[in-house]
Amino acid sequence: MIAAGRAGERGLSVLLIEKNKQLGSKILITGNGRCNILNAIQDEHMLLEKYGNSKRFLYSVFAQFGEKDAFDFFDLHGLPLVIEAGNRVFPKSQNALDVVSFLADYMRRGNVEVRTQHTVSGVKMKDGNIESISCGQEVLIADEYIFATGGVSHPETGSTGDGYKWLKQLGHTIVTPTPSLVPLQVKERWAKELSGISLEDMKITFFVDGKKEFKLNGRLLFTHFGVSGPLIINCASKVSKLLPTGIVTAQIDMFPRVDFGDLERQIISIFDINKNKTLKNMVGELVPAGMAKGILILLSSQMDVEVKVHSVTKDNRKKIVNLFKALPITITGLMGLDRAIVADGGLPLTEVDMKTMRSNKVNNLFVTGDLLHINRPSGGFSLQLCWSTGYVAGSSVGKNKIA
Ligand SMILES: Cc1cc2nc3c(=O)[nH]c(=O)nc-3n(C[C@H](O)[C@H](O)[C@H](O)COP(=O)(O)OP(=O)(O)OC[C@H]3O[C@@H](n4cnc5c(N)ncnc54)[C@H](O)[C@@H]3O)c2cc1C
Repeated sequence: MIAAGRAGERGLSVLLIEKNKQLGSKILITGNGRCNILNAIQDEHMLLEKYGNSKRFLYSVFAQFGEKDAFDFFDLHGLPLVIEAGNRVFPKSQNALDVVSFLADYMRRGNVEVRTQHTVSGVKMKDGNIESISCGQEVLIADEYIFATGGVSHPETGSTGDGYKWLKQLGHTIVTPTPSLVPLQVKERWAKELSGISLEDMKITFFVDGKKEFKLNGRLLFTHFGVSGPLIINCASKVSKLLPTGIVTAQIDMFPRVDFGDLERQIISIFDINKNKTLKNMVGELVPAGMAKGILILLSSQMDVEVKVHSVTKDNRKKIVNLFKALPITITGLMGLDRAIVADGGLPLTEVDMKTMRSNKVNNLFVTGDLLHINRPSGGFSLQLCWSTGYVAGSSVGKNKIA
């Protein structure tokens, strides 16, 4: 949409083909419907660090349309933005639909013709160029083509990997997509009982066969299959490498900013005020909102929760603190591509002219967004890539008209 809008704004005649009834189905589910539209890390080097090995390829794209350009593109032209924790940027309206409407409007202003409920079914080559594409019975011919069909995560949104198929057919390499930003499956029932509970500032530490591997802080979400949220999603790629090497377990620290001694003192003072209440009835006062149900399952397996808190022994109090700082889970696997936020894989950047997003193999083809093989964390970095690569493709197309 941004590529089409940009090309239209430059006065080119543009047709956008979308197989769904509505535009931007995936945008609508981003950031839980709020759309984490970009990340406002101001320092370009630090921002590009987030893209790992792809960093060196992205300088020219970001020099043409970087974070500041994307921020202003939306914020100064009718979609006010707000910066939240971790430099995550959202529409002020907190509504992803406004992002889609903004882009639709951008295309309208550029006189882009939009055809929804049209599926591109094939691509035909001639002399190293795309000659035409087919949409069912219809054959469409353009001077130049931009593929922006996305990857393979959440295929119900329309991204079913069609672009990968065409790129392969056109002689490109495709790195096989694997889920990279994806929730984790967990064995324990207590965790699943907490489905829907989101905790802002948690620490998780991962172990293989009991040996500590790595830790990370952030927001964690319990789901009916295990754990998710930015914290987990950003661990998934490392966890996928650990899983074949042994039994992967993790400990969740619900109070990462309080040390063991202070947490124990806090619990003692709450117990002192509520001497005659049972431990079972007090758990809700001790843990973050919503966590009591799951914690009670865990506590009950270790001690009698019907006792009055004044008779909780010192040993048991230490067990409680231990538990709060190290809730145990066993990771049984990663969720599949259908649940991934980002699927790794796609077109290697060595096969694209990153100054223009033009294919190195097919002269009248440009490629953008999730079709490109670029690893990145969650936090708005994926959509930023779409804005940058899309804007550059839309700025480059039409400059090299085929004779
Ligand atoms: C649950 C979830 C949450 C996310 N949250 C965030 C977030 O908050 N911030 C962030 O930066 N990133 C987020 N992402 C990632 C982000 O959504 C993607 O990186 C981005 O949408 C990719 O854009 P794209 O244009 O490349 O592809 P897509 O958004 O996948 O769009 C491709 C479009 O092409 C259409 N299409 C495909 N094949 C055909 C065909 N044959 N004919 C016609 N049309 C076709 C599809 O219907 C689709 O509309 C999230 C992803 C998911 C799954």
